[in-house]
Amino acid sequence: MKTLTCAQMGGMCDAVMTAETKEEMLAKGMEHLEAAHPEMAATVKAMPKDDPMMVEWNKKFDEMWDAAPEMPAAE
Ligand SMILES: [Zn+2]
Repeated sequence: MKTLTCAQMGGMCDAVMTAETKEEMLAKGMEHLEAAHPEMAATVKAMPKDDPMMVEWNKKFDEMWDAAPEMPAAE
């Protein structure tokens, strides 16, 4: 389990998201974006996946995910 904040993922608040996998984190990030920053969510959704900004963002996200420390599951 790893945690990233909205700000780390390019957002504008400090909401913390936890996920087991990169895919789950992406999904949670998008969910949070839609709930908390709908305008930003709309912008991201309107962008083609091969847009240089998205490609760059994905690269950064991969690095951040790899660098995030593994947390013990909160049970
Ligand atoms: Zn946020």
